[in-house]
Amino acid sequence: MSAAELLQQIADDVRTCTACRLHQSAMRAVPGEGPPDAKVMFIGEAPGFHEDRQGRPFVGAAGQFLEELLALAGLRRSDVFIANVIKHRPPDNRDPEPDEIAACSQFLERQIAALNPLVIVTLGRFSMARWFPGEKISRIHGQPRWIDGRLIVPMMHPAAALHQPQYRALIEADFRRLPEFIAQAEARSAHSAAPVAPEKPDDPEVQQLSLF
Ligand code: URA
Repeated sequence: MSAAELLQQIADDVRTCTACRLHQSAMRAVPGEGPPDAKVMFIGEAPGFHEDRQGRPFVGAAGQFLEELLALAGLRRSDVFIANVIKHRPPDNRDPEPDEIAACSQFLERQIAALNPLVIVTLGRFSMARWFPGEKISRIHGQPRWIDGRLIVPMMHPAAALHQPQYRALIEADFRRLPEFIAQAEARSAHSAAPVAPEKPDDPEVQQLSLF
């Protein structure tokens, strides 16, 4: 199956999911959206009021701000894939429960596998926790790390930054650096795709090195 077909299949599965309680109170599932060849994937927390109504991620105030932040990085919404850790809205926008995160995680796993993005930007602590357990967003935001062959960039959640000037400046500064991070990831992937010279086991230097 192509990436587009896989992502469609995942979205269909999300829409019929009853694995946790959230589907009972939600109006619509929000699987995520974006081009199947997107190099950059953004992962937020969970749908809010507007997302739940429209079945699309980041369409409320946080989404509007996310689009402004993307523009700072020279990106448009249509260039990137946007998803959430949780695919159905928690009642009153409460934090997701651990069992809800666990029940939903297979969808994110499958989306990442289908998309195979070079860069993943986590927005807020719930998506950050998947790659940086025990870390604090205030300490590691904007500091990318290579994990499983991808550059993972932890960022603050746009909703948290929207109304707090000190956080707003930080998230804007992090987004301005995003082109640099994407370029790093592209350079590394181009490098690793280059043909590797075959190892010569009879080369004395290689033999010597393999002794250590
Ligand atoms: N906040 C999120 O984390 N995700 C959305 O889709 C909207 C707001």
